[in-house]
Amino acid sequence: MVSAKPLKIFLDLEDTIIKLWDDPQLVNVQAINSFLTMLAHDRPRVETISIFSFAIWDDKDRAAFVDRHIKSTVEQALNVTVDEWPSVEQMQQIIEKWSGFKFFDRMDFMQLHGKHDAFIKMCIAREQNVHCILIDDAVPHRTVVDHDRQLDIELMPVHKLIGTSAPPATKKI
Ligand SMILES: [Mg+2]
Repeated sequence: MVSAKPLKIFLDLEDTIIKLWDDPQLVNVQAINSFLTMLAHDRPRVETISIFSFAIWDDKDRAAFVDRHIKSTVEQALNVTVDEWPSVEQMQQIIEKWSGFKFFDRMDFMQLHGKHDAFIKMCIAREQNVHCILIDDAVPHRTVVDHDRQLDIELMPVHKLIGTSAPPATKKI
């Protein structure tokens, strides 16, 4: 679904763009690249590309994402700059502040929300008047509209992108 709003793209890591945190070989590069090309073709304003992954647990993992060159490998493969890569700890803090609800710990937070609910709540907590798309191997194919914040929040299973083809280079008049 493509709306008229500026786009913010969020990428899961494991089984979406890399195999595993401990074995970070790239996967699905062609499919994700084609999808990003298609979005950029439809809409010039892809504002940010961020990571949204439960594999990044805390500040130590946030540093490891850079130091182990996972960030630069993903950036090179997709020809993008990764703007943000929040940890689960940060996601939990943002959602706790927004909702006023305290979780027992990070595991409690992840189990209560799952990936898709955490993403939807984090978008509502932080975003306004944009179209957020999460590409992930473990989400339902679903779009949620928050009218109060003029937000379209789209969950895109990565397997749906396999076979996505890039549009022709020349624009129709
Ligand atoms: Mg995953």
